Amino acid sequence: MSGKDTGNIRKLSGIAVSPGVIIGKARVIDRSKVKIFYQYLVNETQINKEVERFREALEATKEQIISLKNTMPEQIKKHSFILDTHLMIVDDSMLCDSTINAILNEKINAEWALKKTIQTIKQLFDQVEDEYIKERFGDVENIAERILRNLAGKEPESLSEIKERVIIVSHDLSPVDTSEMNIGKVMGFITDVGGRTSHSAIMAQSLKIPSVVGLETATRQIADGDIIIVDGNSGEVILDPDDETIIHYQEKQLQHERYESKIARTSHLPAKTVDGHDIAIEANIEFLEEVVVAKDYGAEGIGLYRTEFHYLRSKGIPSEEELFEDYKEVAEIMAPDPVTLRTLDLGGDKFSSVMDLNREINPALGLRAIRFCLKEPKIFKSQLRAILRASAFGNIRLMFPMISGLQELLDSKKVLEEVMVELDHEGVNFDHNIELGIMIEIPSAVAVADMLAKHVDFFSIGTNDLIQYALAIDRVNEHVAYMYEPFHPAILRMIQQVINAANDAGIRVSLCGEMAADPLCAYILLGLGIEGLSMNAGGIPVIKKIIRTMSIEDAKADFAGIFQLETAKDVREFIANKMRDLFPDPDDRSLYNHE
Ligand code: PEP
Ligand code: MG
Repeated sequence: MSGKDTGNIRKLSGIAVSPGVIIGKARVIDRSKVKIFYQYLVNETQINKEVERFREALEATKEQIISLKNTMPEQIKKHSFILDTHLMIVDDSMLCDSTINAILNEKINAEWALKKTIQTIKQLFDQVEDEYIKERFGDVENIAERILRNLAGKEPESLSEIKERVIIVSHDLSPVDTSEMNIGKVMGFITDVGGRTSHSAIMAQSLKIPSVVGLETATRQIADGDIIIVDGNSGEVILDPDDETIIHYQEKQLQHERYESKIARTSHLPAKTVDGHDIAIEANIEFLEEVVVAKDYGAEGIGLYRTEFHYLRSKGIPSEEELFEDYKEVAEIMAPDPVTLRTLDLGGDKFSSVMDLNREINPALGLRAIRFCLKEPKIFKSQLRAILRASAFGNIRLMFPMISGLQELLDSKKVLEEVMVELDHEGVNFDHNIELGIMIEIPSAVAVADMLAKHVDFFSIGTNDLIQYALAIDRVNEHVAYMYEPFHPAILRMIQQVINAANDAGIRVSLCGEMAADPLCAYILLGLGIEGLSMNAGGIPVIKKIIRTMSIEDAKADFAGIFQLETAKDVREFIANKMRDLFPDPDDRSLYNHE
Protein backbone atom coordinates (compact mmCIF):
# COMPACT_ATOMS: atom_id res chain seq x y z
CA MET A 1 0.00 0.00 0.00
CA SER A 2 1.37 3.39 -0.77
CA GLY A 3 1.22 7.13 -0.66
CA LYS A 4 0.85 9.11 -3.85
CA ASP A 5 0.24 12.61 -5.17
CA THR A 6 -2.48 12.83 -7.79
CA GLY A 7 -2.34 16.34 -9.22
CA ASN A 8 -2.14 18.37 -6.08
CA ILE A 9 -4.17 15.94 -3.98
CA ARG A 10 -2.08 13.97 -1.46
CA LYS A 11 -3.45 10.50 -1.01
CA LEU A 12 -2.59 7.32 0.85
CA SER A 13 -3.93 3.97 -0.28
CA GLY A 14 -4.67 1.13 2.09
CA ILE A 15 -7.10 -1.69 2.67
CA ALA A 16 -10.74 -0.65 3.06
CA VAL A 17 -12.15 -2.63 5.96
CA SER A 18 -15.26 -0.79 7.06
CA PRO A 19 -17.34 1.24 4.60
CA GLY A 20 -18.42 4.87 4.70
CA VAL A 21 -16.83 8.24 4.11
CA ILE A 22 -15.75 10.63 6.87
CA ILE A 23 -14.14 14.04 6.90
CA GLY A 24 -12.61 15.19 10.15
CA LYS A 25 -9.73 16.09 12.39
CA ALA A 26 -6.94 13.55 12.88
CA ARG A 27 -5.88 12.40 16.33
CA VAL A 28 -2.53 10.72 16.01
CA ILE A 29 -2.12 8.15 18.76
CA ASP A 30 1.40 7.61 19.96
CA ARG A 31 1.78 3.92 20.56
CA SER A 32 5.43 3.92 19.56
CA LYS A 33 8.48 4.80 21.60
CA VAL A 34 9.23 8.37 22.62
CA LYS A 35 11.44 9.23 19.68
CA ILE A 36 12.31 12.84 20.19
CA PHE A 37 14.81 13.78 22.84
CA TYR A 38 15.26 17.44 23.28
CA GLN A 39 18.81 18.14 24.35
CA TYR A 40 19.51 21.50 25.90
CA LEU A 41 21.69 23.17 28.47
CA VAL A 42 20.09 24.24 31.70
CA ASN A 43 21.15 27.46 33.33
CA GLU A 44 22.38 27.64 36.92
CA THR A 45 19.10 28.91 38.35
CA GLN A 46 17.09 26.05 36.84
CA ILE A 47 19.43 23.20 37.74
CA ASN A 48 17.74 22.20 40.98
CA LYS A 49 14.35 22.31 39.29
CA GLU A 50 15.68 19.99 36.58
CA VAL A 51 16.86 17.50 39.22
CA GLU A 52 13.47 17.76 40.88
CA ARG A 53 11.76 17.11 37.53
CA PHE A 54 13.82 13.95 37.12
CA ARG A 55 13.05 12.77 40.66
CA GLU A 56 9.32 13.31 40.06
CA ALA A 57 9.49 11.28 36.85
CA LEU A 58 11.26 8.48 38.74
CA GLU A 59 8.61 8.57 41.45
CA ALA A 60 5.78 8.48 38.89
CA THR A 61 7.47 5.53 37.18
CA LYS A 62 7.71 3.69 40.47
CA GLU A 63 4.06 4.32 41.29
CA GLN A 64 2.96 3.07 37.87
CA ILE A 65 4.91 -0.17 38.28
CA ILE A 66 3.53 -0.73 41.79
CA SER A 67 0.01 -0.13 40.55
CA LEU A 68 0.58 -2.56 37.65
CA LYS A 69 1.78 -5.12 40.18
CA ASN A 70 -1.22 -4.61 42.46
CA THR A 71 -3.76 -4.98 39.69
CA MET A 72 -2.22 -8.14 38.24
CA PRO A 73 -4.84 -10.88 37.85
CA GLU A 74 -4.40 -13.80 40.28
CA GLN A 75 -3.49 -16.24 37.52
CA ILE A 76 -0.35 -14.35 36.57
CA LYS A 77 0.74 -13.17 39.99
CA LYS A 78 3.54 -15.71 39.81
CA HIS A 79 5.19 -13.52 37.17
CA SER A 80 5.19 -10.42 39.34
CA PHE A 81 8.92 -10.83 39.96
CA ILE A 82 9.42 -9.19 36.55
CA LEU A 83 7.90 -6.01 37.93
CA ASP A 84 10.02 -6.37 41.08
CA THR A 85 13.08 -6.36 38.83
CA HIS A 86 11.77 -3.21 37.17
CA LEU A 87 11.32 -1.58 40.57
CA MET A 88 14.90 -2.45 41.44
CA ILE A 89 16.10 -0.81 38.24
CA VAL A 90 14.20 2.39 39.07
CA ASP A 91 15.79 2.37 42.53
CA ASP A 92 19.23 1.57 41.19
CA SER A 93 21.70 4.13 42.40
CA MET A 94 23.65 4.03 39.14
CA LEU A 95 20.64 5.00 37.07
CA CYS A 96 19.51 7.64 39.52
CA ASP A 97 22.84 9.07 40.72
CA SER A 98 24.62 9.21 37.38
CA THR A 99 21.68 10.96 35.77
CA ILE A 100 21.51 13.53 38.58
CA ASN A 101 25.28 13.99 38.46
CA ALA A 102 25.13 14.58 34.72
CA ILE A 103 22.42 17.21 35.21
CA LEU A 104 24.41 18.94 37.94
CA ASN A 105 27.88 18.69 36.45
CA GLU A 106 27.22 19.02 32.76
CA LYS A 107 24.23 21.34 33.18
CA ILE A 108 22.12 19.39 30.73
CA ASN A 109 18.42 18.59 30.75
CA ALA A 110 17.10 15.43 32.43
CA GLU A 111 16.27 13.58 29.18
CA TRP A 112 19.76 14.14 27.84
CA ALA A 113 21.33 13.12 31.14
CA LEU A 114 19.23 9.95 31.31
CA LYS A 115 20.18 9.03 27.75
CA LYS A 116 23.85 9.40 28.61
CA THR A 117 23.43 7.17 31.67
CA ILE A 118 21.65 4.51 29.61
CA GLN A 119 24.50 4.56 27.08
CA THR A 120 27.00 3.95 29.89
CA ILE A 121 24.88 1.12 31.31
CA LYS A 122 24.66 -0.39 27.83
CA GLN A 123 28.44 -0.42 27.51
CA LEU A 124 28.64 -2.33 30.79
CA PHE A 125 26.07 -4.89 29.66
CA ASP A 126 27.88 -5.28 26.32
CA GLN A 127 30.98 -6.44 28.18
CA VAL A 128 29.10 -9.28 29.90
CA GLU A 129 29.45 -12.66 28.19
CA ASP A 130 26.36 -14.31 29.63
CA GLU A 131 23.57 -13.99 27.02
CA TYR A 132 20.79 -14.05 29.61
CA ILE A 133 22.24 -11.13 31.55
CA LYS A 134 22.93 -9.28 28.30
CA GLU A 135 19.28 -9.55 27.38
CA ARG A 136 18.27 -7.95 30.68
CA PHE A 137 19.38 -4.64 29.18
CA GLY A 138 15.95 -4.70 27.51
CA ASP A 139 14.40 -4.22 30.96
CA VAL A 140 16.61 -1.19 31.58
CA GLU A 141 15.60 0.28 28.23
CA ASN A 142 11.97 -0.37 29.02
CA ILE A 143 12.26 1.54 32.30
CA ALA A 144 14.15 4.39 30.64
CA GLU A 145 11.35 4.62 28.10
CA ARG A 146 8.79 4.93 30.89
CA ILE A 147 10.82 7.59 32.67
CA LEU A 148 11.16 9.53 29.42
CA ARG A 149 7.43 9.40 28.94
CA ASN A 150 6.89 10.68 32.42
CA LEU A 151 9.41 13.45 31.81
CA ALA A 152 7.45 14.42 28.76
CA GLY A 153 4.26 14.18 30.78
CA LYS A 154 3.23 11.52 28.30
CA GLU A 155 1.27 8.45 29.23
CA PRO A 156 -0.02 6.10 26.56
CA GLU A 157 -3.36 7.60 25.63
CA SER A 158 -6.43 5.51 26.33
CA LEU A 159 -9.00 5.70 23.58
CA SER A 160 -11.75 5.86 26.18
CA GLU A 161 -10.53 9.33 27.16
CA ILE A 162 -11.04 10.96 23.78
CA LYS A 163 -13.30 13.94 24.26
CA GLU A 164 -13.83 15.46 20.80
CA ARG A 165 -14.95 13.95 17.52
CA VAL A 166 -11.82 12.77 15.75
CA ILE A 167 -10.44 10.24 13.32
CA ILE A 168 -7.90 8.02 15.06
CA VAL A 169 -4.58 7.64 13.24
CA SER A 170 -2.36 4.98 14.76
CA HIS A 171 0.45 2.65 13.83
CA ASP A 172 -1.62 -0.22 15.12
CA LEU A 173 -4.69 -0.72 17.27
CA SER A 174 -5.12 -3.77 19.41
CA PRO A 175 -8.54 -5.32 19.96
CA VAL A 176 -8.25 -3.92 23.51
CA ASP A 177 -7.84 -0.41 22.06
CA THR A 178 -10.85 -0.82 19.82
CA SER A 179 -12.98 -2.22 22.61
CA GLU A 180 -12.10 0.77 24.79
CA MET A 181 -12.95 3.35 22.14
CA ASN A 182 -15.30 6.13 23.05
CA ILE A 183 -17.80 5.30 20.35
CA GLY A 184 -19.58 8.64 20.39
CA LYS A 185 -16.30 10.44 19.68
CA VAL A 186 -14.34 8.22 17.33
CA MET A 187 -15.58 8.93 13.80
CA GLY A 188 -13.31 6.34 12.23
CA PHE A 189 -9.80 5.01 12.34
CA ILE A 190 -6.86 4.37 10.10
CA THR A 191 -3.69 2.39 10.82
CA ASP A 192 -0.27 1.78 9.29
CA VAL A 193 -0.54 -1.98 9.73
CA GLY A 194 -3.29 -4.62 9.65
CA GLY A 195 -5.27 -6.69 7.18
CA ARG A 196 -8.87 -7.13 6.13
CA THR A 197 -9.65 -9.78 8.73
CA SER A 198 -7.58 -8.48 11.64
CA HIS A 199 -9.73 -8.21 14.73
CA SER A 200 -9.43 -4.42 14.88
CA ALA A 201 -10.87 -4.26 11.38
CA ILE A 202 -13.69 -6.57 12.41
CA MET A 203 -14.42 -4.32 15.38
CA ALA A 204 -14.61 -1.26 13.10
CA GLN A 205 -17.33 -2.99 11.11
CA SER A 206 -19.25 -3.91 14.23
CA LEU A 207 -19.03 -0.33 15.44
CA LYS A 208 -20.11 0.88 11.99
CA ILE A 209 -17.23 3.34 11.74
CA PRO A 210 -15.34 3.79 8.47
CA SER A 211 -11.87 2.38 8.59
CA VAL A 212 -8.80 1.84 6.40
CA VAL A 213 -5.81 -0.25 7.51
CA GLY A 214 -2.40 -1.15 6.08
CA LEU A 215 -1.56 2.44 5.09
CA GLU A 216 2.09 1.94 6.12
CA THR A 217 3.02 5.61 6.55
CA ALA A 218 -0.14 7.29 7.90
CA THR A 219 1.36 8.12 11.29
CA ARG A 220 4.40 9.67 9.62
CA GLN A 221 2.48 11.72 7.08
CA ILE A 222 -0.40 12.95 9.21
CA ALA A 223 -0.02 15.34 12.14
CA ASP A 224 -2.36 15.73 15.09
CA GLY A 225 -5.15 18.13 14.13
CA ASP A 226 -4.80 17.74 10.33
CA ILE A 227 -8.05 17.57 8.39
CA ILE A 228 -8.28 14.28 6.50
CA ILE A 229 -10.84 12.33 4.50
CA VAL A 230 -11.20 8.59 4.98
CA ASP A 231 -12.95 6.64 2.26
CA GLY A 232 -13.75 3.27 3.82
CA ASN A 233 -15.14 2.01 0.50
CA SER A 234 -12.09 2.54 -1.70
CA GLY A 235 -9.37 2.45 0.98
CA GLU A 236 -8.17 5.96 0.19
CA VAL A 237 -7.17 8.61 2.69
CA ILE A 238 -6.90 12.19 1.45
CA LEU A 239 -4.51 14.51 3.26
CA ASP A 240 -5.04 18.30 3.42
CA PRO A 241 -8.07 18.27 1.08
CA ASP A 242 -9.00 21.49 -0.70
CA ASP A 243 -12.59 22.79 -0.75
CA GLU A 244 -13.40 21.15 -4.05
CA THR A 245 -12.24 17.74 -2.79
CA ILE A 246 -14.20 18.15 0.42
CA ILE A 247 -17.38 18.90 -1.53
CA HIS A 248 -16.78 15.87 -3.78
CA TYR A 249 -16.41 13.57 -0.77
CA GLN A 250 -19.40 15.08 1.02
CA GLU A 251 -21.42 14.05 -2.01
CA LYS A 252 -19.98 10.51 -1.78
CA GLN A 253 -20.81 10.46 1.93
CA LEU A 254 -24.42 11.38 1.22
CA GLN A 255 -24.69 8.77 -1.53
CA HIS A 256 -23.41 6.07 0.79
CA GLU A 257 -25.79 7.08 3.57
CA ARG A 258 -28.75 7.22 1.20
CA TYR A 259 -27.98 3.77 -0.17
CA GLU A 260 -27.54 2.31 3.31
CA SER A 261 -30.84 3.67 4.57
CA LYS A 262 -32.66 2.50 1.44
CA ILE A 263 -31.39 -1.04 1.93
CA ALA A 264 -31.95 -0.96 5.68
CA ARG A 265 -35.69 -0.49 5.06
CA THR A 266 -35.86 -4.02 3.66
CA SER A 267 -33.63 -5.70 6.22
CA HIS A 268 -36.49 -7.44 8.01
CA LEU A 269 -37.68 -9.28 4.94
CA PRO A 270 -36.69 -12.95 5.07
CA ALA A 271 -33.63 -14.19 3.20
CA LYS A 272 -35.59 -16.37 0.79
CA THR A 273 -34.24 -16.99 -2.69
CA VAL A 274 -36.49 -16.55 -5.75
CA ASP A 275 -36.72 -20.35 -5.96
CA GLY A 276 -37.95 -20.60 -2.37
CA HIS A 277 -34.89 -21.57 -0.28
CA ASP A 278 -34.58 -20.04 3.19
CA ILE A 279 -31.07 -19.09 4.26
CA ALA A 280 -30.36 -18.45 7.95
CA ILE A 281 -28.85 -14.99 8.27
CA GLU A 282 -27.27 -14.32 11.63
CA ALA A 283 -24.95 -11.75 13.18
CA ASN A 284 -21.44 -11.86 14.59
CA ILE A 285 -21.09 -9.84 17.78
CA GLU A 286 -18.33 -9.07 20.24
CA PHE A 287 -20.37 -7.45 23.01
CA LEU A 288 -23.79 -7.73 24.58
CA GLU A 289 -24.49 -4.11 23.56
CA GLU A 290 -24.51 -5.11 19.88
CA VAL A 291 -27.44 -7.52 20.13
CA VAL A 292 -30.17 -4.96 19.72
CA VAL A 293 -28.41 -3.41 16.72
CA ALA A 294 -28.03 -6.89 15.23
CA LYS A 295 -31.79 -7.43 15.53
CA ASP A 296 -32.43 -4.03 13.97
CA TYR A 297 -30.34 -5.00 10.97
CA GLY A 298 -32.47 -8.10 10.48
CA ALA A 299 -30.35 -10.79 12.16
CA GLU A 300 -32.34 -13.96 12.78
CA GLY A 301 -29.93 -15.14 15.44
CA ILE A 302 -26.39 -14.67 16.68
CA GLY A 303 -24.21 -17.00 14.64
CA LEU A 304 -21.02 -16.05 16.44
CA TYR A 305 -20.59 -14.37 19.79
CA ARG A 306 -16.84 -13.68 20.13
CA THR A 307 -16.88 -14.08 23.89
CA GLU A 308 -13.17 -13.29 24.31
CA PHE A 309 -13.81 -9.55 23.88
CA HIS A 310 -15.47 -9.52 27.29
CA TYR A 311 -12.21 -10.85 28.75
CA LEU A 312 -10.18 -8.29 26.79
CA ARG A 313 -12.31 -5.43 28.06
CA SER A 314 -12.20 -6.70 31.66
CA LYS A 315 -8.40 -6.75 31.57
CA GLY A 316 -8.57 -9.98 33.53
CA ILE A 317 -10.82 -12.93 33.96
CA PRO A 318 -14.48 -12.09 34.50
CA SER A 319 -16.24 -14.11 37.17
CA GLU A 320 -18.62 -16.95 36.27
CA GLU A 321 -21.48 -14.82 37.60
CA GLU A 322 -20.57 -11.87 35.40
CA LEU A 323 -20.36 -14.11 32.33
CA PHE A 324 -23.64 -15.83 33.19
CA GLU A 325 -25.48 -12.48 33.45
CA ASP A 326 -24.06 -11.38 30.10
CA TYR A 327 -24.95 -14.61 28.25
CA LYS A 328 -28.39 -14.80 29.87
CA GLU A 329 -29.21 -11.30 28.70
CA VAL A 330 -28.13 -11.99 25.11
CA ALA A 331 -30.17 -15.21 25.11
CA GLU A 332 -33.24 -13.45 26.48
CA ILE A 333 -33.07 -10.59 23.99
CA MET A 334 -32.71 -12.96 21.03
CA ALA A 335 -35.16 -15.67 22.18
CA PRO A 336 -36.59 -17.69 20.52
CA ASP A 337 -33.84 -17.11 17.95
CA PRO A 338 -30.54 -18.86 18.58
CA VAL A 339 -27.38 -17.44 20.13
CA THR A 340 -24.13 -19.23 19.31
CA LEU A 341 -21.65 -18.72 22.11
CA ARG A 342 -18.15 -19.48 20.96
CA THR A 343 -15.88 -20.38 23.84
CA LEU A 344 -12.85 -18.25 24.51
CA ASP A 345 -10.64 -17.59 21.47
CA LEU A 346 -7.84 -15.65 23.12
CA GLY A 347 -4.46 -15.53 21.45
CA GLY A 348 -3.56 -14.80 17.82
CA ASP A 349 -4.03 -11.03 17.62
CA LYS A 350 -6.29 -11.02 20.70
CA PHE A 351 -4.24 -10.76 23.85
CA SER A 352 -5.60 -9.97 27.25
CA SER A 353 -3.58 -9.24 30.34
CA VAL A 354 -4.23 -12.90 31.17
CA MET A 355 -1.75 -13.75 28.47
CA ASP A 356 0.38 -10.64 28.17
CA LEU A 357 3.39 -12.09 29.90
CA ASN A 358 3.37 -15.10 27.67
CA ARG A 359 3.86 -13.33 24.37
CA GLU A 360 4.79 -15.84 21.71
CA ILE A 361 6.97 -15.43 18.64
CA ASN A 362 4.26 -16.80 16.43
CA PRO A 363 0.94 -16.27 18.23
CA ALA A 364 -1.28 -17.32 15.31
CA LEU A 365 0.26 -20.78 15.58
CA GLY A 366 0.57 -20.70 19.33
CA LEU A 367 -1.44 -21.30 22.46
CA ARG A 368 -4.66 -19.91 21.08
CA ALA A 369 -8.39 -20.57 21.57
CA ILE A 370 -9.28 -24.16 22.50
CA ARG A 371 -5.60 -25.00 23.12
CA PHE A 372 -5.41 -22.27 25.73
CA CYS A 373 -8.69 -23.44 27.29
CA LEU A 374 -7.60 -27.07 27.52
CA LYS A 375 -4.40 -25.93 29.19
CA GLU A 376 -6.29 -23.69 31.62
CA PRO A 377 -9.25 -25.92 32.60
CA LYS A 378 -10.30 -23.64 35.45
CA ILE A 379 -10.85 -20.70 33.10
CA PHE A 380 -12.51 -22.99 30.53
CA LYS A 381 -14.83 -24.63 33.05
CA SER A 382 -15.91 -21.35 34.54
CA GLN A 383 -17.00 -20.16 31.08
CA LEU A 384 -18.73 -23.46 30.27
CA ARG A 385 -20.65 -23.27 33.54
CA ALA A 386 -21.79 -19.74 32.70
CA ILE A 387 -22.88 -20.79 29.20
CA LEU A 388 -24.77 -23.85 30.40
CA ARG A 389 -26.50 -21.93 33.17
CA ALA A 390 -27.57 -19.28 30.65
CA SER A 391 -28.91 -22.00 28.34
CA ALA A 392 -31.95 -22.29 30.65
CA PHE A 393 -33.00 -18.78 29.56
CA GLY A 394 -33.04 -18.96 25.77
CA ASN A 395 -31.91 -20.81 22.69
CA ILE A 396 -28.17 -21.15 23.26
CA ARG A 397 -25.73 -23.08 21.11
CA LEU A 398 -22.19 -23.83 22.12
CA MET A 399 -19.24 -23.72 19.75
CA PHE A 400 -15.55 -24.58 20.14
CA PRO A 401 -13.01 -22.55 18.11
CA MET A 402 -9.82 -23.73 16.38
CA ILE A 403 -10.47 -27.45 16.56
CA SER A 404 -7.61 -29.12 14.69
CA GLY A 405 -8.59 -32.76 14.96
CA LEU A 406 -10.77 -35.37 16.61
CA GLN A 407 -8.74 -35.86 19.79
CA GLU A 408 -8.95 -32.16 20.61
CA LEU A 409 -12.71 -32.23 20.06
CA LEU A 410 -13.12 -35.29 22.28
CA ASP A 411 -10.96 -33.70 25.00
CA SER A 412 -13.07 -30.56 24.89
CA LYS A 413 -16.31 -32.55 25.00
CA LYS A 414 -14.99 -34.40 28.03
CA VAL A 415 -14.52 -31.12 29.91
CA LEU A 416 -18.03 -30.11 28.88
CA GLU A 417 -19.44 -33.40 30.21
CA GLU A 418 -17.60 -32.92 33.51
CA VAL A 419 -19.15 -29.49 33.88
CA MET A 420 -22.60 -30.88 33.09
CA VAL A 421 -22.20 -33.55 35.78
CA GLU A 422 -21.09 -30.88 38.28
CA LEU A 423 -24.13 -28.73 37.52
CA ASP A 424 -26.45 -31.72 37.81
CA HIS A 425 -24.98 -32.51 41.22
CA GLU A 426 -25.59 -28.94 42.28
CA GLY A 427 -29.15 -29.15 40.98
CA VAL A 428 -28.60 -26.29 38.53
CA ASN A 429 -31.02 -26.08 35.64
CA PHE A 430 -29.59 -26.05 32.08
CA ASP A 431 -30.37 -27.30 28.58
CA HIS A 432 -29.12 -30.91 28.53
CA ASN A 433 -29.61 -31.03 24.77
CA ILE A 434 -27.65 -27.88 24.05
CA GLU A 435 -26.46 -27.96 20.46
CA LEU A 436 -22.73 -28.30 20.11
CA GLY A 437 -20.77 -27.15 17.09
CA ILE A 438 -17.22 -26.40 16.06
CA MET A 439 -15.51 -23.80 13.95
CA ILE A 440 -13.83 -25.27 10.91
CA GLU A 441 -10.93 -22.90 10.45
CA ILE A 442 -7.81 -25.04 10.35
CA PRO A 443 -6.98 -26.99 7.17
CA SER A 444 -6.48 -30.20 9.18
CA ALA A 445 -10.09 -29.94 10.37
CA VAL A 446 -11.21 -29.67 6.74
CA ALA A 447 -9.31 -32.83 5.91
CA VAL A 448 -11.02 -34.79 8.69
CA ALA A 449 -14.38 -32.98 8.56
CA ASP A 450 -16.15 -36.31 7.95
CA MET A 451 -14.76 -37.67 11.23
CA LEU A 452 -15.56 -34.51 13.20
CA ALA A 453 -19.10 -34.32 11.80
CA LYS A 454 -20.08 -37.50 13.64
CA HIS A 455 -19.51 -35.83 17.01
CA VAL A 456 -21.21 -32.44 16.66
CA ASP A 457 -24.53 -30.87 15.72
CA PHE A 458 -23.15 -28.20 13.39
CA PHE A 459 -20.13 -26.76 11.64
CA SER A 460 -19.38 -23.08 11.24
CA ILE A 461 -16.68 -22.35 8.68
CA GLY A 462 -14.32 -19.61 9.88
CA THR A 463 -12.80 -18.38 6.66
CA ASN A 464 -10.76 -15.60 8.30
CA ASP A 465 -8.53 -18.18 9.87
CA LEU A 466 -9.02 -20.86 7.25
CA ILE A 467 -7.65 -18.49 4.60
CA GLN A 468 -4.83 -17.41 6.92
CA TYR A 469 -3.72 -20.99 7.58
CA ALA A 470 -4.40 -22.45 4.14
CA LEU A 471 -2.67 -19.68 2.17
CA ALA A 472 -0.01 -19.07 4.85
CA ILE A 473 -0.79 -15.37 5.23
CA ASP A 474 -0.76 -13.66 8.59
CA ARG A 475 -4.17 -12.00 8.79
CA VAL A 476 -2.78 -8.93 10.58
CA ASN A 477 0.19 -8.36 8.29
CA GLU A 478 -0.42 -5.59 5.75
CA HIS A 479 2.45 -6.79 3.53
CA VAL A 480 0.67 -10.01 2.65
CA ALA A 481 -2.87 -8.66 2.91
CA TYR A 482 -3.10 -8.53 -0.89
CA MET A 483 -2.98 -12.35 -0.83
CA TYR A 484 -6.17 -12.65 1.22
CA GLU A 485 -8.32 -14.30 -1.42
CA PRO A 486 -11.58 -16.07 -0.65
CA PHE A 487 -11.89 -17.01 -4.33
CA HIS A 488 -8.64 -18.94 -4.38
CA PRO A 489 -9.67 -22.30 -5.89
CA ALA A 490 -8.07 -24.05 -2.89
CA ILE A 491 -10.39 -22.21 -0.51
CA LEU A 492 -13.46 -22.93 -2.60
CA ARG A 493 -12.55 -26.61 -2.69
CA MET A 494 -12.06 -26.68 1.07
CA ILE A 495 -15.43 -25.05 1.68
CA GLN A 496 -17.06 -27.58 -0.59
CA GLN A 497 -15.36 -30.46 1.20
CA VAL A 498 -16.70 -29.24 4.54
CA ILE A 499 -20.22 -28.77 3.17
CA ASN A 500 -20.17 -32.29 1.67
CA ALA A 501 -19.00 -33.80 4.97
CA ALA A 502 -21.74 -31.97 6.86
CA ASN A 503 -24.40 -33.04 4.35
CA ASP A 504 -23.28 -36.66 4.47
CA ALA A 505 -23.52 -36.65 8.27
CA GLY A 506 -26.83 -34.77 8.22
CA ILE A 507 -25.59 -31.80 10.28
CA ARG A 508 -26.04 -28.07 9.68
CA VAL A 509 -23.26 -26.03 8.09
CA SER A 510 -22.89 -22.28 7.99
CA LEU A 511 -20.08 -19.78 7.50
CA CYS A 512 -19.09 -16.94 9.81
CA GLY A 513 -15.86 -15.44 8.40
CA GLU A 514 -15.76 -11.97 6.83
CA MET A 515 -16.40 -13.70 3.52
CA ALA A 516 -20.06 -14.07 4.57
CA ALA A 517 -20.59 -10.30 4.29
CA ASP A 518 -18.82 -9.91 0.94
CA PRO A 519 -21.55 -9.38 -1.69
CA LEU A 520 -19.53 -11.20 -4.34
CA CYS A 521 -19.12 -14.25 -2.12
CA ALA A 522 -22.80 -14.73 -1.23
CA TYR A 523 -23.70 -15.99 -4.69
CA ILE A 524 -20.88 -18.49 -4.70
CA LEU A 525 -21.47 -19.73 -1.15
CA LEU A 526 -25.12 -20.42 -1.83
CA GLY A 527 -24.11 -22.18 -5.03
CA LEU A 528 -21.83 -24.35 -2.93
CA GLY A 529 -24.78 -25.32 -0.71
CA ILE A 530 -24.19 -23.27 2.45
CA GLU A 531 -27.29 -23.14 4.68
CA GLY A 532 -26.50 -20.11 6.79
CA LEU A 533 -24.30 -17.04 6.91
CA SER A 534 -23.25 -15.09 9.97
CA MET A 535 -21.63 -11.68 9.61
CA ASN A 536 -21.16 -8.23 11.11
CA ALA A 537 -24.64 -6.80 11.50
CA GLY A 538 -24.08 -3.91 9.08
CA GLY A 539 -23.54 -6.38 6.24
CA ILE A 540 -26.88 -8.16 6.70
CA PRO A 541 -29.25 -5.93 4.68
CA VAL A 542 -27.12 -6.11 1.53
CA ILE A 543 -26.59 -9.86 1.75
CA LYS A 544 -30.30 -10.43 2.33
CA LYS A 545 -31.08 -8.30 -0.72
CA ILE A 546 -28.74 -10.42 -2.85
CA ILE A 547 -30.26 -13.64 -1.58
CA ARG A 548 -33.77 -12.39 -2.32
CA THR A 549 -32.72 -11.62 -5.90
CA MET A 550 -30.93 -14.88 -6.75
CA SER A 551 -31.90 -18.46 -7.41
CA ILE A 552 -30.05 -21.31 -5.77
CA GLU A 553 -30.64 -23.56 -8.73
CA ASP A 554 -28.93 -21.00 -11.03
CA ALA A 555 -26.07 -20.56 -8.60
CA LYS A 556 -25.59 -24.32 -8.35
CA ALA A 557 -25.61 -24.66 -12.14
CA ASP A 558 -23.10 -21.80 -12.42
CA PHE A 559 -20.97 -23.34 -9.78
CA ALA A 560 -20.08 -26.31 -11.93
CA GLY A 561 -18.52 -23.78 -14.34
CA ILE A 562 -16.85 -21.75 -11.59
CA PHE A 563 -15.13 -24.87 -10.32
CA GLN A 564 -13.37 -25.21 -13.65
CA LEU A 565 -11.84 -21.73 -13.33
CA GLU A 566 -8.24 -21.91 -12.26
CA THR A 567 -7.52 -18.46 -10.85
CA ALA A 568 -9.22 -16.29 -8.29
CA LYS A 569 -9.24 -13.44 -10.81
CA ASP A 570 -11.32 -15.47 -13.25
CA VAL A 571 -13.76 -16.44 -10.49
CA ARG A 572 -14.06 -12.82 -9.39
CA GLU A 573 -14.78 -11.62 -12.92
CA PHE A 574 -17.35 -14.34 -13.46
CA ILE A 575 -19.24 -13.40 -10.31
CA ALA A 576 -18.99 -9.66 -10.93
CA ASN A 577 -20.58 -10.16 -14.37
CA LYS A 578 -23.29 -12.27 -12.84
CA MET A 579 -24.00 -9.55 -10.27
CA ARG A 580 -24.12 -6.89 -12.97
CA ASP A 581 -26.87 -8.92 -14.67
CA LEU A 582 -28.76 -9.44 -11.42
CA PHE A 583 -28.49 -5.79 -10.32
CA PRO A 584 -28.70 -3.50 -13.36
CA ASP A 585 -29.64 -0.43 -11.26
CA PRO A 586 -26.55 1.87 -11.11
CA ASP A 587 -27.34 2.53 -7.43
CA ASP A 588 -26.39 -1.10 -6.77
CA ARG A 589 -23.00 -1.00 -8.41
CA SER A 590 -21.24 -0.96 -5.02
CA LEU A 591 -22.29 -4.63 -4.77
CA TYR A 592 -19.69 -5.63 -7.33
CA ASN A 593 -17.59 -2.55 -7.98
CA HIS A 594 -15.57 -0.86 -5.26
CA GLU A 595 -14.17 2.04 -7.32
C1 PEP B 1 -12.87 -16.84 11.49
O1 PEP B 1 -11.74 -17.22 11.77
O2 PEP B 1 -13.30 -16.82 10.32
C2 PEP B 1 -13.80 -16.36 12.53
C3 PEP B 1 -15.03 -16.06 12.25
O3 PEP B 1 -13.32 -16.21 13.79
P1 PEP B 1 -12.37 -15.00 14.23
O4 PEP B 1 -12.43 -13.97 13.14
O5 PEP B 1 -12.88 -14.48 15.52
O6 PEP B 1 -11.03 -15.65 14.35
MG1 MG C 1 -11.17 -17.68 13.78
